[in-house]
Amino acid sequence: MTMREMQQMLSDIEWEVKLTRNMIGKAALSDRVMAAIRHVPRHKFIPDALREYAYQNGPVPIGFGQTISQPYIVALMSDLLNTKPSDVVLEIGTGSGYQAAILSELVRQVYSIEVIEDLATMARAHLRELGYSNVEIRAGDGNLGWPEHAPYDGIIVTAAAPHIPQALIDQLRTGARLVIPLGQPYSAQELMVVEKKPDGEIETREILDVAFVPLVEVPRSGASHKSDRQNPM
Ligand code: SAH
Repeated sequence: MTMREMQQMLSDIEWEVKLTRNMIGKAALSDRVMAAIRHVPRHKFIPDALREYAYQNGPVPIGFGQTISQPYIVALMSDLLNTKPSDVVLEIGTGSGYQAAILSELVRQVYSIEVIEDLATMARAHLRELGYSNVEIRAGDGNLGWPEHAPYDGIIVTAAAPHIPQALIDQLRTGARLVIPLGQPYSAQELMVVEKKPDGEIETREILDVAFVPLVEVPRSGASHKSDRQNPM
């Protein structure tokens, strides 16, 4: 990547943050998040044929009908998660592994779940190549979360869910946040911040309109479920 490409992407993110300041409630994202964005070479997570789009502020296809999210959205969601360096976080929808790499820069340990096995394998290879050793990826259904490592200091869902999966609420530490796009596939979706209060109640806040690929429902029975999809990779 050239310094100029990265500089352009960072200033495009800053510009869009300013444009949406009334919705997101701030005119700039945290320095920690912007530093993480600056560190991660986005082109390593994008097919070679689409290299020229790697540092543009838009989503890019990554195969299997999926996309790597727009850099502004990755930065915003990372900011909304409000992480500390000691945190353990869960991501649902590994995709290319780019968001996981950003989180890897921000927290102690990242767990990420991807339903498409080939994408999970590719994401692991990308992260290993770049030396990110605090990310563990498994192929499986994110609707179920990853109970073994719960509770999480934050959970980020990067696919649109029709409703908040109960397992994710259950696996959230008290006081922690879940950042999730809610809504029907390919129609109006709202990016939400969900906070688990000490009394067990959840508080939700709408941030802005977004467009994500759907969080798929995986049938609870059937050969592909427990036997292979849920195995750690
Ligand atoms: N965070 C990714 C982009 C995610 S695109 C990145 O940085 O590149 C959304 C991803 O969610 C897709 O890869 C899709 O396969 C995955 N997904 C959809 N439904 C899922 C589910 N139920 N469990 C886990 N992953 C799911």
